[in-house]
Amino acid sequence: MRILVHGASLPGPAGRMALAAAGLALRGHRVLWQGPGLPALAGGPPAELGRAPDGLALARVQADVVVGGPARALGAAAAGWLTRARCMVLALEAPALRAWRRRDRWAWSTLYATGLIEEGEAETVRSDPQGLELERVALWSSDAPPPEADATHADTEILERACERALARQRTRSPRAAVFVDRDGTLVVERGYLSDPLDLELLPRTVTALRHLRAAGFPVVVVSNQSGVERGLFPASRVYAAMARLRSLLRVHGIELDAVYFCPHRPEAGCACRKPGTALLERAADDLVLALARSFMAGDKMLDVETARRAHARGVLVRTGYGRDEERRLAGGGGADAPDLVCEDLEAAARWIVTRQGTGED
Ligand SMILES: [Mg+2]
Repeated sequence: MRILVHGASLPGPAGRMALAAAGLALRGHRVLWQGPGLPALAGGPPAELGRAPDGLALARVQADVVVGGPARALGAAAAGWLTRARCMVLALEAPALRAWRRRDRWAWSTLYATGLIEEGEAETVRSDPQGLELERVALWSSDAPPPEADATHADTEILERACERALARQRTRSPRAAVFVDRDGTLVVERGYLSDPLDLELLPRTVTALRHLRAAGFPVVVVSNQSGVERGLFPASRVYAAMARLRSLLRVHGIELDAVYFCPHRPEAGCACRKPGTALLERAADDLVLALARSFMAGDKMLDVETARRAHARGVLVRTGYGRDEERRLAGGGGADAPDLVCEDLEAAARWIVTRQGTGED
């Protein structure tokens, strides 16, 4: 996503919104900051975090979502209009909300706007929402804010999902078919417990594959098992850093992923989110308004195909990564568990998926 932060409406760099917004840059989203409130980052600002120009020069920037604070909703919305953002996510506070003028309420209504409030204020806002639609208001985490921007903090996750949910709902109210894609061995070269972001390398036809899918209107969602986290091989922050590099490498080619989900657990944990569990697909369906039964999942392992099957989606096995070995094991198997398609790579998968679109084979 391309995020514009309206710093003038934020209470300061230590607030939840400022920290979470900077955390989005650590997750690989392009974050441009206008005005004050930029938190200091120990390792210096990541490449994805930059300064937005002031005044009307802001119109040179294009954003998907403008985020801001409880004060001056009109100012945040105006920044959104200038950057052609479609959505606005504001950190709300009950006293500031009560002080909103008519023009602030009007500004809220001009973009697809949602709000985030502290748990302790939920009851106050619920009993007196000041005219805001309550279904557009969600909660920050109950954890203390992090000392500095942190990709792994719950608030960063909450803001990321709030932005993605707003974008999806602004686009459509009827569930869409999506393409879920495995990461290692499908989008990028299989390295075996990849933890160094610099080891991440796109497979040769990943970019053309994703271009086909985006041109056909499919949301593209990455779903990855990353058990190296719970095995203690690397911290979750390394997964976010690798996913951030994936987003950056794709952005160079003009491709934005709709969302990234991963499971950090070991297979023995028995969680519902590790593929072939379908919890992450179900979460994505709720976040992004997706129809799983009309969706596809492509991966280099049979567990990706099984995930699709369990979610009532269609499964594609690609021969990159572990795919050839998986196909060999599959030989002669077939039957109900067979993939809907086995093909060379994600580009071949994408071409097939696009031809299935609108064929009445839903
Ligand atoms: Mg894989």
